[in-house]
Amino acid sequence: MQTRRIYLVGPRACGKTTVGKALAEALGWRFTDTDEVVVRGAGCAIADIVERRGWDAFRDMETAALRALSGEDAIVIATGGGMVLRAQNRDLMRESGLVVLLTASADVLAERLSVDPLHAQRPSLTGKSVADEVAEVLRERAPMYAAAAHMLEDATQPVGEIVASVMQVLEKGEIP
Ligand code: ADP
Ligand code: MG
Repeated sequence: MQTRRIYLVGPRACGKTTVGKALAEALGWRFTDTDEVVVRGAGCAIADIVERRGWDAFRDMETAALRALSGEDAIVIATGGGMVLRAQNRDLMRESGLVVLLTASADVLAERLSVDPLHAQRPSLTGKSVADEVAEVLRERAPMYAAAAHMLEDATQPVGEIVASVMQVLEKGEIP
């Protein structure tokens, strides 16, 4: 096995944290979430960072967190939904680990967000309804998710199946 670093990318609620934790446990690796690293570093919630300092400041902190984690070994990293927006982030992930995109339709994502109170606290990107915002953000970011990812997994599969597929690719050592 060559790759000892996995990045999970995809839109909010696609399952990055859920799958990442299960994958880390199965591999015996550490799990971390870039959103959590940013929140810990800032000492306040993402909504507060964005409100006080703006999205650019949040994106800078997100990139810094990614840089720090890209040097860690035996780690599964769940990234924020917007991590793929910057080319430098996409390049860094692709060069330093296996990048897995979890794919789901806007309807599935909106449904998951509507039942998850934690996600509802995330600041709105556009000021629209959840379903419209999810669809729009997905449309905008789809090319960037695709550009970042080495492999795609259907995010509506059972978590265990997603974990098994990723482990199979790791064991073959084909990517990256
Ligand atoms: P993310 O970290 O990408 O924002 P989460 O891991 O927090 O997403 O998952 C969002 C919601 O979707 C949670 O309620 C979680 O339980 C659910 N979920 C995640 N993965 C799956 C899956 N494969 N099948 C069904 N529900 C899932
Ligand atoms: Mg998450």
